[in-house]
Amino acid sequence: LITFFLYIGFMIEPIQRLSHMSVQFNEGITGFQRFMEIMNLKPSIENKPNALTLQKVRGEIEFKQVSFHYEYHLDNVLVNLSLRVQSGEYVALVGPSGAGKTTLCSLIPRFYDVTDGAVLLDGINVRNIDLQSLRNQIGIVQQDVYLFTGTVLENIRYGNPTASDEDIIAAAKHANAHDFIMSLPNGYDSEIGQRGVKLSGGQKQRLSIARVFLKNPGVLIFDEATSALDNESESIVKESLESLAKGRTTLVIAHRLSTIRNAGRIIVLTENGIVEQGTHEALLGHDGAYAQLYSRQFEL
Ligand code: ADP
Ligand code: MG
Repeated sequence: LITFFLYIGFMIEPIQRLSHMSVQFNEGITGFQRFMEIMNLKPSIENKPNALTLQKVRGEIEFKQVSFHYEYHLDNVLVNLSLRVQSGEYVALVGPSGAGKTTLCSLIPRFYDVTDGAVLLDGINVRNIDLQSLRNQIGIVQQDVYLFTGTVLENIRYGNPTASDEDIIAAAKHANAHDFIMSLPNGYDSEIGQRGVKLSGGQKQRLSIARVFLKNPGVLIFDEATSALDNESESIVKESLESLAKGRTTLVIAHRLSTIRNAGRIIVLTENGIVEQGTHEALLGHDGAYAQLYSRQFEL
């Protein structure tokens, strides 16, 4: 029977989840319940009939008593979490690994639907928004930048397929990527990928920031790399990000002190939910979870 589950799991879920699944089997969760869950699997995220098409958003985000667990995991990642982010606000999310920071952010573009409660963008439940138009309004810069085999120009254009070459170059300049691109053997026409030029982590991130400039969304989510970039890359990426964040609602899953310090508000998320929020100074003064996290991470 277990082999059968695993087989089905293979067909419908990314391999990544399989490891979680087998862990749960080992923990002895009843097979029948699992089986029913898997067989009931709904086509995950769909457009509602008559979904609203968004134009430009102000970028006000609200989590309203949100609970969430992943499909095969009955343990809640988020429980009754409420949070309001104002239009144009710059918020840093910090907390221990596994607390649910990435999960929380992935609910905004509806990579997953909440189990309970609601996520609102400009006061509209994201479930009622046309998916494409929702995701057009959200720019994401992740730890692992997705680049495909093709030229630098094509890779940036991915942010907005209708963009002109001039738009792309302007976006690259905003992202502090233009100079390094011009120093490549074929400039913007240089091939990236296995047989093309190799880019550093910081260069890849700047290409991904250029994409988001091109996309020009009202909401920005930045999942900061945990592994350190070299100092020079780090300060260039930081500068590009700050300029990208201007005029947009920004959520940064932050690991670096420099990013955290610049935030208008820091939110500390642990397995117990949001345990603290405030400015860097206020939270240090409070001498609670943030102060602890901070002293451990940056060894005061
Ligand atoms: P953080 O970003 O704060 O490190 P995550 O949001 O990545 O935390 O993870 C929160 C919890 O959800 C963890 O226990 C993690 O193992 C689990 N989790 C994350 N992604 C998935 C997934 N795709 N399927 C099942 N469980 C997941
Ligand atoms: Mg994460």
